[in-house]
Amino acid sequence: MKAVQYVGDHTVEVVELPIPEPGPADVLLEPLAVGVCGTDQHIIEGDYTSRPPITLGHEVCARVLEVGAATRSVRPGDLVTVEPHIYCGVCVHCQSGRPHLCPERQAPGVHLPGGMAERMVVPETLAYRLDPATPPLLGALVEPLACAVHGIDRLAPVSGSSAAVFGVGPAGALLISLLRRAGMSTVVAVEMREQRRDLALRMGADVALDPTDAGFADTMAELTRGDGFRYVVDAVGSSKVLAQATAVAARGATILVFGVARPGDRWEVSPNEIYAKELSVLGTALNPFTHRRAADLVNTLGLDQLHLGTFGLDEVHDALAAQADGRVDKVLVLPNGSSW
Ligand SMILES: [Zn+2]
Ligand SMILES: [Zn+2]
Repeated sequence: MKAVQYVGDHTVEVVELPIPEPGPADVLLEPLAVGVCGTDQHIIEGDYTSRPPITLGHEVCARVLEVGAATRSVRPGDLVTVEPHIYCGVCVHCQSGRPHLCPERQAPGVHLPGGMAERMVVPETLAYRLDPATPPLLGALVEPLACAVHGIDRLAPVSGSSAAVFGVGPAGALLISLLRRAGMSTVVAVEMREQRRDLALRMGADVALDPTDAGFADTMAELTRGDGFRYVVDAVGSSKVLAQATAVAARGATILVFGVARPGDRWEVSPNEIYAKELSVLGTALNPFTHRRAADLVNTLGLDQLHLGTFGLDEVHDALAAQADGRVDKVLVLPNGSSW
């Protein structure tokens, strides 16, 4: 079978591999649509704990082809989404109900073979059934949506509040959609690119502003009658954005650090401001127990509004370039063509 591998040294190649054999507790999958995301770029840049050579792809929608003898939840023909984490089960975090903090976790597409291949084997426990009517392109959005759902769980937003989301990549778009549905009175998107500001409005933002506009700070203040925003989300992953986010945070606000910043990035904070404004700063990592909920939500959020770019396995370098330059809202690789 053909597979897309990160082979080390910032290099991605299309390679030939043997078709994997499912064990008794595994399922053999035909990946239909696999999202490309910033994590893949981090892996290729060497910022991430992957072990090359590794088949990429952790945002997977697939068809079940074969099931091991000991499986019981899925059958051949089922449409599934892959929850891309295997936790160790024996560390303090796993044993305390917070497995996403497990330092020994392994992820298909990062440490284990991922979905950018004509076939993929995963344990049955990672293959979550989707509504069979789910378009595979949306099925591949369940994983990033599950991360956004965990972000919203962390924020626990109180309805009737104001929220500002910095960055309208796919993650920002999903967060805007969820915040709108969580009953926010005002959802403001902050994004430099016009095409992405349009996406924010389609996903339910009231206003989408360019932070480089001269009147930006005044407009942000006016939108909350000078109070600032109760919830501020960095969906970019950058100290520069977090500085802007802090500037528009209300007294008592919560700042959610959602985007994945580079490991060397540093954010200068004022302890006095955190004290005096009683700010909360929250991290949010992965998707603990949110993948099922995301699978059940994915058809309800108007995600067909996203402009998707699709590429074959052989076009993976074009797919990575499209992901990097943001020419479409979300990039997907279709490892088995588009004739589903
Ligand atoms: Zn991802
Ligand atoms: Zn663990």
